[in-house]
Amino acid sequence: MEKIKCVHCGESDYVKKGFRKTENRGRIQKFKCNSCKKYFTNDDGFYRMRNNEKKITSAIDLYFSNLSSRKVRNHFRRHWEHNASHVSVLDWCRKYVLKVQKYVDTMPLNLSGKVYADETEIPRGCNTKRKGGDKFWCSVDWDTRYINATLYSPNPQNTQDAIEFLRKTRKHGLPMYIQTDAAQFYPKAMKKVFASVRCKGKRNISGSKRLLVEHRINNVQKTGKHNVRIETVFMKIKDRVDDFRGLKALWSAPILMAGIILQHNFIEAHTTTGVVPCELAGLKLETGVNRWLGLIRLATN
Ligand SMILES: [Zn+2]
Repeated sequence: MEKIKCVHCGESDYVKKGFRKTENRGRIQKFKCNSCKKYFTNDDGFYRMRNNEKKITSAIDLYFSNLSSRKVRNHFRRHWEHNASHVSVLDWCRKYVLKVQKYVDTMPLNLSGKVYADETEIPRGCNTKRKGGDKFWCSVDWDTRYINATLYSPNPQNTQDAIEFLRKTRKHGLPMYIQTDAAQFYPKAMKKVFASVRCKGKRNISGSKRLLVEHRINNVQKTGKHNVRIETVFMKIKDRVDDFRGLKALWSAPILMAGIILQHNFIEAHTTTGVVPCELAGLKLETGVNRWLGLIRLATN
């Protein structure tokens, strides 16, 4: 059972004091804090939200499983008494992605270390005059299908972004190998991130530094084979970023991308393995059936 704390002073010394009636969330227990003497209701992750948690979490789940924010709104118009605009849908998604991300970032994971990396284009703002779009760097840990590193960038591919992205693959321990395509910035970036450090005073020994992580290069032009392992992940992502065409602001897109990745890593069972990737990575979270709701509750306590 979660521990109830006063939202004003943080103490857990309180008495029950009746209920607050809300329009969409029913009756909510009120408390009076013995420490600061103020009244409060418990922050269960949905503190002061005007809509109930089932509606909010189903909006988040629907949006990240590939329904546009306007389609989620239309679904609500047909099924719920009170309406919610497509803007509130996006607001809920962003608010709870940030909360859950912060929580899962502290979790230890057991990954296979067989990492497949690539970049794909995100069509942010592409229904306006602006051409191109952003770049999304992403790598998947093969045995678990856990997406272990991502980078959202408005720039074309470059060595600096490759370095920043590859650094993130070290978060849960060094990978065994990383497979990429033959793009020229990868060897440079691999060297920068994974070259073994020499002892002091021996800096000038000739020969190249050894890489701590094997770099497997798949040259499609030579092998004729695509990097199928990462491409299946990208196919799923590309399916889901169509709604990004309407996004103008750069600040919003990386948060929503993070939500798509959370949906992949923590919410949906993978079609091939039949298991949610985080569970294959050894993380058993008590979320219940409504996994978004469970994650938000865990992130709140
Ligand atoms: Zn208090």
